[in-house]
Amino acid sequence: MFEQFDLDQALLGAINNIGYKKPTSIQELALPAAMAGKDVLASAPTGTGKTAAFILPAAQHLLDYPRTKPGFPRVLILTPTRELAIQIHEQSEKLTALTKIKSAVMTGGVNYGSHKDILTTTTDILVATPGRLLEYIESEQFDVRDIEILIIDEADRMLDLGFSETINRIVGEARWRKQTMLFSATLAGSGVIKFSKELLNEPVFLEANPSRKEKAKTHQWIHLADSRDHKVALLLNILKQEDVKRTVVFANKRETVQYLSGKLYAEEVPCAWLEGKMPQDKRTSAVERLRNSAVNVLVATDVAARGLDIDDITHVINFDMPRKADIYLHRIGRTGRAGNKGTAISLVEAHDMGVISKIERFVDERLQRRVIEELRPKNKEARVPQKKAKVKRSAAQKKAKAKKQSKKGKKK
Ligand code: AMP
Repeated sequence: MFEQFDLDQALLGAINNIGYKKPTSIQELALPAAMAGKDVLASAPTGTGKTAAFILPAAQHLLDYPRTKPGFPRVLILTPTRELAIQIHEQSEKLTALTKIKSAVMTGGVNYGSHKDILTTTTDILVATPGRLLEYIESEQFDVRDIEILIIDEADRMLDLGFSETINRIVGEARWRKQTMLFSATLAGSGVIKFSKELLNEPVFLEANPSRKEKAKTHQWIHLADSRDHKVALLLNILKQEDVKRTVVFANKRETVQYLSGKLYAEEVPCAWLEGKMPQDKRTSAVERLRNSAVNVLVATDVAARGLDIDDITHVINFDMPRKADIYLHRIGRTGRAGNKGTAISLVEAHDMGVISKIERFVDERLQRRVIEELRPKNKEARVPQKKAKVKRSAAQKKAKAKKQSKKGKKK
């Protein structure tokens, strides 16, 4: 029950309107600590409701201590990608819909003019990607010295993308803040803990322990494949199956996204595509086409993996395997969100087996191997071991076989 937290009626009302029935495990953990004003270091897998876990306490703080004069934002949320920024902003608007709190989003990839409002009028919660924000700070068009609560989302990804220096500079500017929260999909081995030491003051360490229901919602399996063409055939077969409704297909390279989109169109499977170098308006419209069901398939590089929050993604398909287990988790986090059932299917070539073992260790389960009969792999390394019926041989038969083999050996 959200009523257990000391949240304002306006926030409880919004939660009710959105339809959240009860807090997710990360929300249960983060809300009390964050509302007590503590610094937070939280590890939470994607899709478990972490956005609300930091927006709600921040909004409550703004309601507890209303603004006395107009000015720059008091809550800053830094996030690695534009898509994610837009989605956090949308959630922020929904959660604060019954209050006077004003949220805004500032990202790269849109022209400078569109940020004029944020630079000149009063905003309470700003969601930003680090690069563009730092440009405004350095050109003295923007001031983050009024920031009271700083939230760094997807910190592991930020570090992967090389944002640590930019973040450190922004954080240095926001030095009067009262509270800092850092969220990351993974903490182990990602350098996040080291990075957080400079930023956080005696943080509460929170590790979401997703309930069985939250965890068990994504069904995962793999198809072994001989080649790229074989993977294309598998992909088309899977996409034509009935229950594959709203699907994100991941590829590692832009060229593969383009190649696959062409293949899908040729086979009359309409799709949208999304990759990093596309202009912002095209990216937004690609996501929109999937969201409003104009297409059922979105082909994307990992840029999409972070931000997408489209309800009812039934399937995530890894056309290419990611190189790291945590990226796999981020990808499959697109499906099975907040209680919905999801399926994650990976197309795996022999050279991907190394990463499969890593993933299996990471998720602590063996990914089931499946075969589509007409597309059974031929390649030896990639062949699914078929269960051979055990032939029982009599002792005499065994002896005869051994004799035959030793003769063969001598002939050589
Ligand atoms: P996030 O991990 O913040 O990206 O959230 C994943 C999805 O879960 C979003 O679609 C949220 O709207 C949804 N969500 C967040 N909190 C809850 C909740 N308590 N109950 C149900 N859905 C939620």
